[in-house]
Amino acid sequence: MGFDFIQLVNLPLWNRKLLNGYWIIIGLAVLFSIVSNVISYFTKQYDSIPIITLGVVWILGVAVLEAANYWLKRGHDYLIITGAFIIPDSLIYVFPEDSVLLTTLYLPILISVLYFQFRKVIFSAILSLISFFALYVLCLRETALYSTNDLIIMTCVLLCGAIVALSVMSRGSELLKHLQTSLASSQDLLVKNVIMDKLIKTDALTGLYNHMSFHEYLDKLIEQGEKYDLSFQLAVLDIDHFKKVNDTFGHRAGDAVLKKVAHSITSLVSPNDFTARYGGEEFAVIFTDIELNETLINLENIRTYIEEQHHEELKGSAVTISIGVQDYEKGCTKEALFTGADQALYEAKRTGRNRTVVHDPQKETTNSN
Ligand code: GH3
Ligand code: MG
Ligand code: MG
Repeated sequence: MGFDFIQLVNLPLWNRKLLNGYWIIIGLAVLFSIVSNVISYFTKQYDSIPIITLGVVWILGVAVLEAANYWLKRGHDYLIITGAFIIPDSLIYVFPEDSVLLTTLYLPILISVLYFQFRKVIFSAILSLISFFALYVLCLRETALYSTNDLIIMTCVLLCGAIVALSVMSRGSELLKHLQTSLASSQDLLVKNVIMDKLIKTDALTGLYNHMSFHEYLDKLIEQGEKYDLSFQLAVLDIDHFKKVNDTFGHRAGDAVLKKVAHSITSLVSPNDFTARYGGEEFAVIFTDIELNETLINLENIRTYIEEQHHEELKGSAVTISIGVQDYEKGCTKEALFTGADQALYEAKRTGRNRTVVHDPQKETTNSN
């Protein structure tokens, strides 16, 4: 797997940028020619630049590129790279004796680097060499300025330039690959963190939230309850005679039943509710956004559903659960909520199990008396 460099370079956007760049270069070149002409007019030190001919050639050249960029379906990039030779070639052709202008043949190679594709750099390097040899045959050799040595030197300069450009790109791709690897490992770390977070917050056997995250959630809920008018209930659900289940059918069978009971509870509560494995065979559910009577209907559904499940691990027998419920009221602490739910659960156990009991403060007062 590696970076697709093409995807990194928005080619149509770069083609547009390059064409804009060509227009700017033409503007500057025309401006420079005008300034040069004015200077040469007054000082007679410079040859006057054939501004109109060059300007027309450049404008026509870039106009052709614009049309090609608009109409052609493919090959825009190569045409635009080829177009980059218009200005250097025409300038060298008009001023063959100005050897400094030969350096401009390197410009198209630089431009091709922007595409970040090796084949385009090689293409522009080949065009640079062809341009240079064509110009040499057409005009440079007549100037007597250039020897065969210069021909070899210029060829080497252009080739070295292309090699440097390719090396820059190669280094760039190396860095991008490095970036990709770092990105992949940081994504990996992120995924591991999420998994770790889930492992910390959930119970391994049932997949429900564990005791710790249940308390964190309840703390936040009570905090919100103090500020706003929240309606929620805490229910503690305990499997009846579970010790006997283990003793009769074994711990593994007990584990399987625990998982099934947990699944039954989660499948019957709404996504707004928070279910946790509170202890060994004890579950806690916080019902939010509903009133107590609706919560009781939900709990009765859960209780009867569990009662109706026959487990093959228990040779077809079922288990039952007892439930204690405490309704939240503003000012109620976490301890008070649990004490209330526990007392109601105790009451459910005491009065025969497989029942749902809501904590009744009045009754508590009566009992304690
Ligand atoms: P009660 O109806 O009063 O709740 O009786 P009980 O037997 O369910 O209650 P008790 O608290 O005496 O026993 C709970 C049992 O739950 C004891 C323990 O062996 C079992 N238990 C706790 N955690 C697990 C567990 O992860 N897997 C299995 N298989 N059993 C567990
Ligand atoms: Mg029990
Ligand atoms: Mg218990």
